Amino acid sequence: MDIVQLTVAGIDFDAAHIVSWHPKCKRLHGHTYNVEVKVEGEVDSLTSMVIDFGIVKDIASQTADMFDHRLLIDAQYVLEESKSIKVPRLLTIYDTDLEAVVPLPGEATVEVITHYFLQVFLRKLFSRVTSATYARIKAVTVTISEGNAKSASRRFETSPQKTVQTELPLEKPKAVR
Ligand SMILES: [Zn+2]
Repeated sequence: MDIVQLTVAGIDFDAAHIVSWHPKCKRLHGHTYNVEVKVEGEVDSLTSMVIDFGIVKDIASQTADMFDHRLLIDAQYVLEESKSIKVPRLLTIYDTDLEAVVPLPGEATVEVITHYFLQVFLRKLFSRVTSATYARIKAVTVTISEGNAKSASRRFETSPQKTVQTELPLEKPKAVR
């Protein structure tokens, strides 16, 4: 069976971030992030499609909306009880709306942002497609560019032996205290 790669591009979100150890990126600042999603899979003989582009675009847009106009930050700096953000010696925000914050499983580099975006995208995708479509999908790759000509890609390959739940590539963000 032929494997075809579909690409959905042109999705973006604006967000602030801070990378606490980096000499320049430790200053709170923002970017427009551009997102590209590739889905590889077998073509269905009935529909002549791997998956409807509209589904991929819809889920990628929904995922981007979860990041849009928010602060992307390592979950260790998010203090849920006091609704505060505290990055020692760099940034303290008291009594904030945590809906405006995306706690990440690591410092908010484009590598970690891409990794987390892929994780959220896969959960949404695999909860929406039929088992027949799921069986045809072989890999999903998310590429996110931060500013001009700098990007990170993460690829996830499906495995027929595993269930959707156990094959998700990453743990949830660290517990926040
Ligand atoms: Zn930056």
